[in-house]
Amino acid sequence: MKFLLGAATSAHQVEGNNVNSDCWAMENMRYSSFAEKSGIAADHYNRFEEDIKLMKSAGLNAYRFSIEWARVEPEEGVFSDSEIGHYEEVLKSCISNGIEPIVTLHHFSSPKWLIALGGWEEEKTAEYFARYCKFVVEKLSGYLNYVCTINEANMGVLIAAVARDFEKSNLQIGLNLEELKSRAKEAAKENSEVFKTPNPQVFLSARTAKGDSVIMLAHTKAKAAIKSVAPHICVGLTLSLHDIQVYGNENDGKAEELWKEEFSHYIPYIKDDDFIGVQNYTRTVLGEAPEKFPLTQAGYENYPQALENVIKTVYKELKIPVIVTENGIATLNDDERCDFIDRALQGVKNCIESGIPVLGYCHWSLLDNFEWQKGYSVNFGLVGVNRKTLKRLPKKSLFRLGKYTI
Ligand code: BGC
Repeated sequence: MKFLLGAATSAHQVEGNNVNSDCWAMENMRYSSFAEKSGIAADHYNRFEEDIKLMKSAGLNAYRFSIEWARVEPEEGVFSDSEIGHYEEVLKSCISNGIEPIVTLHHFSSPKWLIALGGWEEEKTAEYFARYCKFVVEKLSGYLNYVCTINEANMGVLIAAVARDFEKSNLQIGLNLEELKSRAKEAAKENSEVFKTPNPQVFLSARTAKGDSVIMLAHTKAKAAIKSVAPHICVGLTLSLHDIQVYGNENDGKAEELWKEEFSHYIPYIKDDDFIGVQNYTRTVLGEAPEKFPLTQAGYENYPQALENVIKTVYKELKIPVIVTENGIATLNDDERCDFIDRALQGVKNCIESGIPVLGYCHWSLLDNFEWQKGYSVNFGLVGVNRKTLKRLPKKSLFRLGKYTI
């Protein structure tokens, strides 16, 4: 089978005007935590054909993108045939350009109505999600061989861990808690107006153990729904994974704990999946590493070697095929990106040589895009986008990636 070599995007980050989603609502709030609004994003909704042709011209043969739930089901139980028609056009374009689509059904953003009904801490969400997945697959299964149900299913748990550490450090450095509290009060009021709840549980909220199990239930139910319609589709989810490294011995046991939280405790829910989507950007260091690496625009170390380590660690515990669904670097220096790609792909080759079934590699990201709360200030793209004209500016790294043979 041909190795899937491609690039990735997500709907909210590139399409533009995702007006029925929770992210859109949050970006447009008075007490928004977003640096800026997504607005027209990269206008990929209208320019997908040009973007897909660019991938083809560079020699890529796979495109991972997401379908936006809030477009397909803008109101609870109301499904849009015209939005499905749009995604059908995207899929047709992939296929006529020799590009294998890898479709994600949920990539962080959710319909606004879902949040008013309890969002990602509410068990019923799993049913809503499976119903939407079934609808999509009933319409589009003829074009699909690979589907990721949920992007970075562990992200809420990782966010909860960061929030825990932040609270601890707050106590130490003594932030102005009164100021924070009064802001939180105003934000809660606004949330009640927008989402009908003071404490909306969007996908990127800090997850409780209950919420974590809701997400696993959503995956399991979605997978069953997809398979009931189209058993030929390979189904998996994706996880955000770090290469956890320990130096010194004062962190004994901590690495295992972190890895269990980030990965191992999901194994019972995903062990029978057709693949696991591995998403890796850097390493996590416990203790003092002897060598430090320059930081990327995203604030973490430029450390492409992490990918090989993560794939190997995953495969030790979970013997199913791997697709690298995201891996990339935020930088304005494209030579740095080329170097990152060379090293990351060498790591993938090493994994394959050691017998691990790695089916593909999708670089994050095809386009410079809307990087969630950080807005447009961060550059992950193989293709630049002029923010005024939206003109595509392919970088050297796009062609470097496309020339790779595995
Ligand atoms: C997410 C992407 C994001 C990327 C870079 C991943 O966690 O899936 O949506 O843009 O990281 O930060």
